[in-house]
Amino acid sequence: MKEKNNLRKTLSVFICVACCSLFVSCGNSNTGNADKTKDNESGISASEIDKKNGGNNDDDYAASRDIFAMDTYMTVKAYGSNADEAVEEAIKEIERLDGMLSATDKDSEIYKLNMNQGGSLSEDVSYLIERSKEIYESTEGTFNIAIYPIVEKWGFASGDYNVPTQDELNELLKDTDFSKVNYDKNNQSLLYETETMKIDLGGIAKGYTSARIMDIFKDLGVTSGIVNLGGNVQVLGTKTDGSDWKVAIQDPLDEDSYIGVLKTHDKAVITSGGYERYFEKDGVRYHHIIDPKTGYPADSGLISVTIVCSDGTMADCLSTSLFIMGKDEAIAYWKKHSSEFDTILYTENNELLVTEGIADQFTSELNITIINDDK
Ligand code: AMP
Ligand code: MG
Repeated sequence: MKEKNNLRKTLSVFICVACCSLFVSCGNSNTGNADKTKDNESGISASEIDKKNGGNNDDDYAASRDIFAMDTYMTVKAYGSNADEAVEEAIKEIERLDGMLSATDKDSEIYKLNMNQGGSLSEDVSYLIERSKEIYESTEGTFNIAIYPIVEKWGFASGDYNVPTQDELNELLKDTDFSKVNYDKNNQSLLYETETMKIDLGGIAKGYTSARIMDIFKDLGVTSGIVNLGGNVQVLGTKTDGSDWKVAIQDPLDEDSYIGVLKTHDKAVITSGGYERYFEKDGVRYHHIIDPKTGYPADSGLISVTIVCSDGTMADCLSTSLFIMGKDEAIAYWKKHSSEFDTILYTENNELLVTEGIADQFTSELNITIINDDK
């Protein structure tokens, strides 16, 4: 059986920064090591300049770190005099959230909730349940964190892959009704109606994490920074020269290539695709994004969906959701919510569709169809 997970996704996501290109690559990953990047025309590192200036008070001063967490490689980068502290705090936050939100780590809050049919919730998990419910409702059940019994059955939690029968899936689907995970907002607690129900925040956790890092950066006075959490990017402000960040969107058919580049600032740019994690059996590929209507990996005709949105948490939920919906439903959903986000849809027929709000900022060698909000 062949398998693939999103560890290699970062290989072909790269972000161009001021005077150099930062190629975010798992091969180059240097987990846990601080890195002062070269971001000035002279080519000497920012830390060297700081030494000359007697301090790191240069707006161009950059601090960056790579870390492996949430099952993927991540890069955090901040600019300015507080860059070092901002990056340190961001790394601590990633580790805290990873420990809390994992569905498989026996010490995590989510694992304990799943074992105990619910329980009281931390502020973070309470917020994530609330946001998940909101998107569950607005997507009519497509985004469903209670899908976990099915995710487990396919082996995506353990890596012990297997193709269930439709009867097995039908039986498990009975336990995936998110409305039976009772959320008490006042007491910040959950109560599952059946013992076999389980939740999984895999479709929202990274977007929430990048959003939290932006808050940490802002609290520390950082005005320019970028995080790449396994291909999910969020940027704060602009680059230090005032120009937009450039975020390349991975080609789902070729991990060493990209389908286009988006210029943006103050946004999350979050992508879902079946290529991120899958296994193959008897020549058939099965990926990790499950259509709650069937219990099968979504087969909607879309092979990649990118959401561009100032709210990273929402962007993550919606990239998963629109991927499952397919082109027509995804466009209809966007038209209802066009003030909240933009999207880049790529179909199995190599059709590339971009919503009007970002059409001017997205460039590609492929033909682009612009989707207008003509209702
Ligand atoms: P993403 O990469 O953000 O699209 O998230 C995919 C992950 O979300 C999967 O690996 C599962 O952990 C989880 N997931 C799968 N299907 C769904 C679904 N229908 N709704 C919510 N989460 C899902
Ligand atoms: Mg998601």
